Amino acid sequence: MGPLIWISDLRKQPVTSDPSCAAAFSAHRIEEAVNALQIHLMIPRANADSKGFTLIELLVVIAVIAILSSMALPALSSGKGKAKQASCTSNMRQIGMGMLIYADEHDGWLPGTSHSTGTNASWIFTLAPYVGNADRIRISPADPNGELRIRSRGTSYVMNEWTSVDSRDPFGSLRETYRRLDTLKKPSETMTVFIISDSAGVGTTQDHTHSRNWHKGWNAVIADIQPDRHNTARPAADKSEGVSNYLYADGHVSSIRASTLKELIERGINFSRPP
Ligand SMILES: [Zn+2]
Repeated sequence: MGPLIWISDLRKQPVTSDPSCAAAFSAHRIEEAVNALQIHLMIPRANADSKGFTLIELLVVIAVIAILSSMALPALSSGKGKAKQASCTSNMRQIGMGMLIYADEHDGWLPGTSHSTGTNASWIFTLAPYVGNADRIRISPADPNGELRIRSRGTSYVMNEWTSVDSRDPFGSLRETYRRLDTLKKPSETMTVFIISDSAGVGTTQDHTHSRNWHKGWNAVIADIQPDRHNTARPAADKSEGVSNYLYADGHVSSIRASTLKELIERGINFSRPP
């Protein structure tokens, strides 16, 4: 904090007391007034009669400034967090729109992931012709590994295994599929895209979850996704504080509390499974 200054009370040395003189307020008078300003460096004094702040007053000022800044800083950082979440939501909405158009042009089928197509390409690039700018929307602004993913052709967004990888029997015959958008029972309750876990890799083949395994417990969930991606509080070790974004098959994006999803998993409900 810079030195506080105290400007002495001008009233003790009036420039003029006669209103009729006010009109004749000359440059000389102004000079007098300026001279009358006594600027003191603030030094705390025990003597209550002296001009300037006492030590107590100074401490109160410092305390007030400390309180005000402690109130402002979290508000600022949470504002930043909210902006990142909004931009992430916008990315996911565009991905959702792209998926709807893609499925419309492919007999209702959603794009496959690197798991199912056997190619070394993420589904996000399959969608590239259907979204405005795949390179801009494939990374969440809240993703700490965003730069790495940009370079390694990865994405912050992973497709739900249920809606991107078919289940087949040991002989290779199709057992079940949720990849056809037009055959989903409840698209508005079917999750299609999650935000990737910080503990997952950054490469282009890290483009899908293994969410058929999520019945094994919360650790299986947080190995795949980051349920506290948009967290403004201190992060919990098991990622159960805060919220994350979820894209649904009808194109809408919801923000869901990590604790809500953890509770579902603990009750044996795999929320990633299409209804
Ligand atoms: Zn896989």
